[in-house]
Amino acid sequence: MRSVSAAPKYLGTVSFSGRNGSKADLSCYRHQPRLASVFAPGYHPRMLTENLLDDARSIAERITALRRAIHAEPELGLETPKTLAKVRAELADLPLEWREGPSCTGAVAVLNGGKAGRRALLRGDMDALPMPEETGLPFASTIAGRMHACGHDTHTAMLAGAARILAGRADALPGEVRFMFQPGEEGYKGAKFMIDDGLIDPLPDAAFALHIMPNAPHGAIGSRTGTLLASADMLKIVVEGRGGHASMPHDTRDPVPVACEIVMALQAMVTRRFKATEAVVVTITQIDAGTAHNVIPDKALLKGTIRTLSPEARQEIWSAIRTLAENIAQAHECDADVAITQGFPPTVNDARAVALAEAVATSLPHGEYLHLPAPIMGAEDFSYVLEKVPGMMAFLGVATSGADLKQCCGIHSSRMMVDETVLPRGTAFLAGCATRFLERGWD
Ligand SMILES: [Zn+2]
Ligand SMILES: [Zn+2]
Repeated sequence: MRSVSAAPKYLGTVSFSGRNGSKADLSCYRHQPRLASVFAPGYHPRMLTENLLDDARSIAERITALRRAIHAEPELGLETPKTLAKVRAELADLPLEWREGPSCTGAVAVLNGGKAGRRALLRGDMDALPMPEETGLPFASTIAGRMHACGHDTHTAMLAGAARILAGRADALPGEVRFMFQPGEEGYKGAKFMIDDGLIDPLPDAAFALHIMPNAPHGAIGSRTGTLLASADMLKIVVEGRGGHASMPHDTRDPVPVACEIVMALQAMVTRRFKATEAVVVTITQIDAGTAHNVIPDKALLKGTIRTLSPEARQEIWSAIRTLAENIAQAHECDADVAITQGFPPTVNDARAVALAEAVATSLPHGEYLHLPAPIMGAEDFSYVLEKVPGMMAFLGVATSGADLKQCCGIHSSRMMVDETVLPRGTAFLAGCATRFLERGWD
């Protein structure tokens, strides 16, 4: 269905920052869609999205006010009651049915359209980060050591805006739109808790989410088909030996060289066992052993992160790490205890949802869609939704117009800034994805 022009225009290289400070430099290309081939005859996408953008701009003050109120009072992890209260107060006049669960402060607001039909889910996250804010903004965080540095304040505000403009059109909507306000994205699995609580049951037919990027072009929407973001698991290896005097290593089983050998062997294993075209990252970030210069310790501890782009590679690397660490340790008459704590799975976009999102993004007035050529090794817990529901996540550039993107602070920076004039576009995009899906499905 989707058709793009033959000669994409190179826009430059954008640096994206992922969760836990990971970064990726991506070359961005702009494709000019031929709308006539994207939409069937008689369908006028630009009219719909123009109207949605007008509607979103007419409530820009409300969107900004909610964003600033949330920004000034950041909450962490799975407990974001004040943030949710602000959202519910902002949307109190709308005919939404609210669902909440026992596991966290997440809520799903359901908007029933005038006719029966499909179900679309839109998601925004509500939690902030435990870090100081140094933006100097008049609405900066009032709580020391907490900041909305990942833009979740804007995601929530754009989602609330989408609820408002879609509620104004509810009579014409064939189906149901669910607005998922989730806490605990920053490593707490808020989306998973909400799914386990049954808050998105029965499962919707499609799901969409946006994440802002402060160092991506003003107003541009970008994504890719397939894996967008990696899985992120925590690795801990304890090498157990037998300590003793540093001058007599033959009387001990020194775990320190064994741990070093495991660190080096992990890198060789990643490059020899996994395709170079499908990235796998194992990074050991912590090595801890010993207490004195003349004592061989009993144990050495290694900690790190594992990133993969597919469930298959994820399973394979878990077992490969175990085999490698245990056998190297055994070769030196030590033991290795490998513990892998599962974090977020890979975020995998459905091709049909990406085509739909591109069509919506480019039909917005001055709409721009960027094809991201490669996944980013950061992670997102919207992945739990996308494991169950076909859908997609897109990035929204919120740099000021004409800004030097290399000078813009990325997400998770204490000086991260958002051009709020982009927020109505994000609202219109989310509302447009839901509307188009309800009206036409994946056609
Ligand atoms: Zn983040
Ligand atoms: Zn985030």
